[in-house]
Amino acid sequence: MPKAFTIDLGATTAKCAFFENMKIKQTFIFKTINKDKILENIAVEAFKIAKENNINMNELDFIGIAVCGIVDNKTGTVIYSTNLGWKNYPAKKELMKLFNNKNVYVLNDAKSAAYGEWAISLKGKPDSMALFTLGTGVGGGAIFDRKLVFGDNTGLPSEPGHGGGFQSECQCSCGLIGCIEPVSSATGIERKLREIGSKSTGPLGKIYSQLNGDIHIIDIADLVKNGDKEVIKIFENSLEPLAKCISVLIHFFDLSMIVIGGGPSNLGEPLIQIIKEKLKNYVLPDFYSRITIRTAQLGNMVGAWGVYKYGIDNLITKK
Ligand SMILES: [Zn+2]
Repeated sequence: MPKAFTIDLGATTAKCAFFENMKIKQTFIFKTINKDKILENIAVEAFKIAKENNINMNELDFIGIAVCGIVDNKTGTVIYSTNLGWKNYPAKKELMKLFNNKNVYVLNDAKSAAYGEWAISLKGKPDSMALFTLGTGVGGGAIFDRKLVFGDNTGLPSEPGHGGGFQSECQCSCGLIGCIEPVSSATGIERKLREIGSKSTGPLGKIYSQLNGDIHIIDIADLVKNGDKEVIKIFENSLEPLAKCISVLIHFFDLSMIVIGGGPSNLGEPLIQIIKEKLKNYVLPDFYSRITIRTAQLGNMVGAWGVYKYGIDNLITKK
């Protein structure tokens, strides 16, 4: 009956949850606009909410946190998080102290999402898969031979948005040439929607003027569903670098599934179809005919579920 408290710590909010026996018992959202003493403040709130809901904090088997940053998985230190302003922040140590619990698991949020989708949503099948999250940037994580991939050298994977030289349109803020992030992220797609929307005489242009240029993917969801040629073309071009990156993974590792998460994944099947069409150009038929591409299913609690299940699986190995 594993009981746990989990934090999915993002740039603007922390999605917090109390779990018991594979169920979410209670959740709360903590605004993280004020970056000062974030974990301390979340802990105070957690103890308060626990008391109100008759949850005994002393009975928690572990504390889990998914962080928007680069995590040293051996020490549970957040090496770097631009969004949180953390550098070499000892998250594990702090949480052990704040919650008086010796079992603390710290994961990068993209790794947590990958584990959540695989272990919970897909119930541990297939044995190997990769998840791409299209958001402000492009994050991701992989499962290989039923294990979350932590890498073998730096321990810092989960950065599929960078490297590879897959496009020549936009310079990435990381300094490398041709990263998929500036083009295939939700931010990249929306920038293109605005750029083309401002000149469009079609339905996209109409929505662009109605919104005074403040156009987001959700605003053109119906155009995607109805197959609007101009909008579909934007998605095809934006997702081309992502498809190239996926093709390399497939040929190298023979993964059987690619999961797409983040805001654009709410477009569902039409988005998957666009990626599949693109992949036809980049994946050998033997691989192509057997690969599954699908959208992430766990929604905004994916980070919480991922670190909860990861904690359970690691507690079991420990015992
Ligand atoms: Zn980059």
